[in-house]
Amino acid sequence: MIRAILFLLLLTVAAPAQAIEIDGTFIQGGMATGKVSPGSTVTLDGEAVAVAPDGSFLIGFGRNAKKKAVLTATPPDGAPETLTLAIERRRYKIQRIDGLPERKVTPRSAEDLARIRDDRAKIVGVRARRTLKTFYDTGFIWPVTGRISGVFGSQRILNGKPRSPHNGVDVAAPKGTPVKAMGDGIVALVHPGMFFSGKTVMIDHGLGLTSVYIHMDTTTVTQGDFVMKGAQIGTIGMTGRATGPHLHWGVSWFNTHLDPALLVGPQKPGG
Ligand SMILES: [Zn+2]
Repeated sequence: MIRAILFLLLLTVAAPAQAIEIDGTFIQGGMATGKVSPGSTVTLDGEAVAVAPDGSFLIGFGRNAKKKAVLTATPPDGAPETLTLAIERRRYKIQRIDGLPERKVTPRSAEDLARIRDDRAKIVGVRARRTLKTFYDTGFIWPVTGRISGVFGSQRILNGKPRSPHNGVDVAAPKGTPVKAMGDGIVALVHPGMFFSGKTVMIDHGLGLTSVYIHMDTTTVTQGDFVMKGAQIGTIGMTGRATGPHLHWGVSWFNTHLDPALLVGPQKPGG
């Protein structure tokens, strides 16, 4: 027994001090959270990563993330430490959706194009927020449960025309079903009707992590509200470009789209 304890003690002492703690899903569309000593700077593939005052940070891997990502942390008074992360690759489906109004697939009028530009600018503005808070720490839930009608990353062919990959998860549910916040955060945007997205809510979960809830029938929060995980933010609808009532749920780390399904477990009744 004493020998075993001594051995453990020796192991603990012999382990090199690890400056970067990291935990997450190293896969395309995945997310990881970590911690470094306060005041450290962190980069991912050479790009600066937002770090909270306590040293918490968050990173994400896009749909087409390369096989390796290089994470570097430099403490205020020390040498940089580097971790090479192996990112698992995924295969994506092709999804065809027909019967959409042509105007919503290939908008042409100056009015529609101006609206799309304005919507885009608002979304980009939210994704640029650099809130040095860790609201995401309390975890995530499904905003609504139902039939998964669209998965992350699919190549989309709308009315026969190739369009951008699907950057979220679609959950079909009856109109009026409550939609809940996936996690704690600040309501960063409430929009009464975007061209593609319809009634839209965006939530800032801190350190660049945002979630978006679109095509809703009603929204029940106000910009600037702080919401807790599970709080109702609206109801299921089919506003914007939708062929039936469903929630499109998206998650981004700054401008990188992540797979929401990787943040939560399998669906359970009640989220
Ligand atoms: Zn969708």
